[in-house]
Amino acid sequence: MTVTRFAPSPNGPLHLGHAYSAIVAHDRAFRDGGAFLLRIEDIDGARSRSELHHEFRDDLDWLGLHYREVTPQSQRLASYRTAADDLRAMGILYPCSCTRAEVAAAAVAQGPDGPLYPGTCLRRGPVPGPDVAWRLDMEQAALLAGPLEWMDERHGLQCARPELFGDVVLWRKDAPASYHLAATLDDAADGVTHVTRGVDLFQATHIHRLIQHLLGLPVPVWHHHPVLVEADGRKLAKRRDAPALADRRRAGEDGRAVAAEVRATLFDTGISLSDAIDQSA
Ligand code: GLU
Repeated sequence: MTVTRFAPSPNGPLHLGHAYSAIVAHDRAFRDGGAFLLRIEDIDGARSRSELHHEFRDDLDWLGLHYREVTPQSQRLASYRTAADDLRAMGILYPCSCTRAEVAAAAVAQGPDGPLYPGTCLRRGPVPGPDVAWRLDMEQAALLAGPLEWMDERHGLQCARPELFGDVVLWRKDAPASYHLAATLDDAADGVTHVTRGVDLFQATHIHRLIQHLLGLPVPVWHHHPVLVEADGRKLAKRRDAPALADRRRAGEDGRAVAAEVRATLFDTGISLSDAIDQSA
């Protein structure tokens, strides 16, 4: 059975870009008579706002999407800890006490997520104290895994290139697990067969594929859809005040009509979303 998910982080209200993402995932599952899941990714304690959880549910209901909500990330910490212990036992995680500023100052190259970690703590040996992050020793992990591939429904077969990210943090100092570890474990636990999300997370899939292999998790298919952009070509974002779905909902707009419009204008056009938006402007 096809299982997809929408996995918002409750650090700001949903906007049209999220509606598009949720509709892609919903329709992909329902095309096959499958299931569409809502998973709230609330492990970033400093930024997560619990009052947004019910807003997200109301927004999906308003759009007319049928979903089943699964356990939010904040209630899955034990499984993240077990997985980190397993990776540590394999000898491919190492503790790191560097601050962001230290990493930025010492980095010699940029990865998709920011400065590449220069391996300072790997060379320095074990760092004492509880206040450490745990990084993946990418070279060892990639050696252990060998070549890996993954399939994207829109972009075809991909060779995994996790080394692009260098020694990523899988266990954070300030929050339990990293997005990469948590999302990968959850997709497996939730039985997700098609990971649908924006193409802005395309590169992260290289890491997720490696984590799946290392932890013996099932391998889904991916579907990275275009992301909605503003007229200036930048991604729609809550921090730039894209109109919240909740505000439109409270103002009495018809959510099903909004969803129908998203489907009519942004789906099945054969053109990219940015072009679609430019043409309707
Ligand atoms: N929680 C992530 C976000 O809101 C999405 C993660 C995913 O779909 O894998 O950007």
